[in-house]
Amino acid sequence: MMSKLAHKSRALVRSLRRWAYPDLQSWNIEVGTRMMSALAEVYWSSTGTAKIMLSKAVAGWPEPALIGLISHEISHISTRGEHPAELNADTDATQRGLGVYVAFERAFIGRFRDQSIRGKQDRYLGYVSLRKRLSAAELSALDQLLGDHSLVPDRRAASSVPHDIAVSRSAGRASVLVEGRHIDLGRVPESSDIKIVTRDGVTQILVDEIVVTTLHELG
Ligand SMILES: [Zn+2]
Repeated sequence: MMSKLAHKSRALVRSLRRWAYPDLQSWNIEVGTRMMSALAEVYWSSTGTAKIMLSKAVAGWPEPALIGLISHEISHISTRGEHPAELNADTDATQRGLGVYVAFERAFIGRFRDQSIRGKQDRYLGYVSLRKRLSAAELSALDQLLGDHSLVPDRRAASSVPHDIAVSRSAGRASVLVEGRHIDLGRVPESSDIKIVTRDGVTQILVDEIVVTTLHELG
């Protein structure tokens, strides 16, 4: 049986595509949920198929935060992981009118300031700088949403969980983007399964259950 989270996320992806991502209308975008270390993962292939996986940890999230997270993932697909990928995804979502939700999500997870990654070559936008990119109407919509959810943005420490991971495939090759690092996996058959596991600051990339790369101290 499909979980409540999967059901809700599928409906959100469908409506987001309809009104904010018309350019992805011909894409086949699947949505799933599972236990994982990051909040979300996104996979896409140059053949026009994509999959967004959400962590079961987000099941209890308020809807605006979920919309913000999913928007960021869909924007990875629309920007094709182009470097700086995380900044591009946040910027793309904001330009499509979804900045209110991305800002809500960052407030919700306690990311008040920008989070630099990959030696400052890329960054996730924090709540403060997202606000600066919103129009007056968007700002009042955001404040309304924060009030509705009794969410007061503060400087408490952000969680150390990786935000999200992106995997792209093209012409029989695959690459992984994790916390701003771009890892080329070389030739990987379309049929093989790519999995990313993070524990205690160590991230491992597995292809068909075999560890192919180990990364230390991300973020
Ligand atoms: Zn991302």
